[in-house]
Amino acid sequence: MNTVPLMPTCQNCGSHVTARFRRVFGDNNGDIHGCRECMKTTEISNEDGLHTNCNC
Ligand SMILES: [Zn+2]
Repeated sequence: MNTVPLMPTCQNCGSHVTARFRRVFGDNNGDIHGCRECMKTTEISNEDGLHTNCNC
């Protein structure tokens, strides 16, 4: 991993996501292929117990 953007974005919809979100849902390259903006919250919240109403 060479570069780590300060403000990662979803590769699917371009929305900004948090560093924590990327760490949880990003792949080995740090790419996020889906976020709360373009995916149903229920789909992503099951992955790692991410808070459904908190983006921190
Ligand atoms: Zn997205």
